[in-house]
Amino acid sequence: MTPSESVFVLWFLSANLLPDVKTLFQKIYVGEIPADILYKDDLCCAFRDISPQAPTHVLIVPKKPIPRIGEATVEDQATLGHLLLTAGKLATDLGLSESGFRIAINHGPHGGETVPHLHVHLLGGRQLEWPPG
Ligand code: AMP
Repeated sequence: MTPSESVFVLWFLSANLLPDVKTLFQKIYVGEIPADILYKDDLCCAFRDISPQAPTHVLIVPKKPIPRIGEATVEDQATLGHLLLTAGKLATDLGLSESGFRIAINHGPHGGETVPHLHVHLLGGRQLEWPPG
């Protein structure tokens, strides 16, 4: 087999035979893993964090499994805007507008990222510290 034939075989195998592994948050989006879903549309869903760091702690997650913010592309511009607008609307719906809230996106080890599927944290219901720990 020539090197280029080997490359083709590897591509074919990975594209057709390897299982299509969903991320944790994709499984929540499609309902394979239960979550306390507050909102869902064609681009994103929002659910309560399983380990809340504030009285209100919601994750807003795109349907598309963008791994993290630094790997988003210009193609993702509308999705990214939609995530922020959804976070703001949820904050209003959850009664956080007056007291205030924080949105955060963690990227990589120093950012505190633990789930490699982009998500916006919406935190509120208590005084949040600045700078963050
Ligand atoms: P990050 O550390 O920024 O990647 O955030 C990941 C967040 O996902 C953490 O706050 C976790 O508590 C949360 N999380 C992990 N698994 C679940 C789950 N099954 N349902 C809801 N939230 C989750």
